[in-house]
Amino acid sequence: MKYVSTRGQAPILTFEEAMLTGLARDGGLYVPETIPVMPKAEIAALAGLPYEEVAFRVMRPFIGDTFTDSEFQDIIARAYAGFAHPARAPLVQIAPNQFVLELFHGPTLAFKDFAMQLIGQLFEEALKRRGDRVTIVGATSGDTGAAAIEAFKGLDAVDVFILYPHGRVSEVQRRQMTTPPDSNVHAIALDGDFDDCQARLKDMFNDFDFRDRVKLAGVNSINWARVLAQVVYYFTAATTLGAPDRKVSFTVPTGNFGDIFAGYVAKRMGLPIERLVIATNQNDILHRTFQTGAYSKAGVTPSISPSMDIQVSSNFERILFDVYDRDGAAVAQQMDALSATGSFTISQGAFDRLRELFDSGRASEDDTLATIAQVFAATGEVLCPHSAVGVKVAAEHADPAVPMITLATAHPAKFPDAVADATGLRPPLPIQMADLYERSERVEEAANDLSALQALIERKIAT
Ligand SMILES: *Cc1c(COP(=O)(O)O)cnc(C)c1O
Repeated sequence: MKYVSTRGQAPILTFEEAMLTGLARDGGLYVPETIPVMPKAEIAALAGLPYEEVAFRVMRPFIGDTFTDSEFQDIIARAYAGFAHPARAPLVQIAPNQFVLELFHGPTLAFKDFAMQLIGQLFEEALKRRGDRVTIVGATSGDTGAAAIEAFKGLDAVDVFILYPHGRVSEVQRRQMTTPPDSNVHAIALDGDFDDCQARLKDMFNDFDFRDRVKLAGVNSINWARVLAQVVYYFTAATTLGAPDRKVSFTVPTGNFGDIFAGYVAKRMGLPIERLVIATNQNDILHRTFQTGAYSKAGVTPSISPSMDIQVSSNFERILFDVYDRDGAAVAQQMDALSATGSFTISQGAFDRLRELFDSGRASEDDTLATIAQVFAATGEVLCPHSAVGVKVAAEHADPAVPMITLATAHPAKFPDAVADATGLRPPLPIQMADLYERSERVEEAANDLSALQALIERKIAT
């Protein structure tokens, strides 16, 4: 299995190289050269298997000879051992033909654990074998950083530094980043906002001396291995409801387009998915794009579903590459237009294909709160605001003939204020995390200054 860049100008890589590289050198994103198709009988055989076994069978064709079967099985077993539910991704019914897929039973209570826990084990195994180590630096508005620190803590081959905007993440998110005691993980509270964090991260990647000296690596959502990990739960959910003999649809609360792109990959592999529905909050760049064919940046308005508050959906480039018939030059041209002018227009042919593949919808802040309240009153299921955006949009796309599954992307206790506003009840932290507020915190405060940050990182990895 080989990986190519969406802009067509970067070297072709193996799975291992693509995973360790992250962003391609031509500025593009790595995708598999071809998507392997799973025969119907093999999909049928997944029904009822443990999550880990489905993960092995679904992901195996993508990893080539990077790991042996038994190495890969061990990696998967370690990745999901810390989940607090034996099904890993349990499916819950909330209305006739309407289901939610609970993706929040991992150690940091958001679906990002599915990918990050796996990528932590993949990195550790690959780097140990190479006798190498890397420094991972990430910027976060909350969930990704917590998932990364939790996934990489205590590993030998990796140091992790997470930049978050000082005072602008929720208390649960902050504590998840600052309480792990392991000496290889570091939370950095930057004096600035999330855009400053991302800008300093980009500066570090562009400082090639520094980049080589500390062996900088990235695990943000454009890393192919993260997308791959998310393909698995589409298979477990669909086969639980009768696939491949019965079709199902999915609605996905969407920010950077990583999670829903994984659903598209599952469909290309042969999973019979009827509709893939993109659900956005009031920051609805994707929904507008599917209405108009123009992808146009607008400012971000903070919402109660903050993990979907985005200006630009980084993984959208991967779907563009496919709807432009894998023409890297055409994708590069669109991306250049986006950085030069803040927008681009999708060609008619590509737009028609996009609309065949996806539906979209948006939920306002009021819709989101009303949906949390309504689902709680009707079923007792407590949704986080991101999942509620999904359920609201899913209801608009209901089809009595096809079950609809909405991905529930975070645990309600991660966003207790919004849930309390909607229901009057403050959701408690799950039992394995009940002492989070008592654990002691460890954090480095830093100015919004590149050389000071670089010095801090080099000092920490030297000790
Ligand atoms: C990251 C995140 C999303 C958005 O997922 P994308 O893959 O970026 O589209 C939605 N909900 C929650 C809770 C998240 O953490």
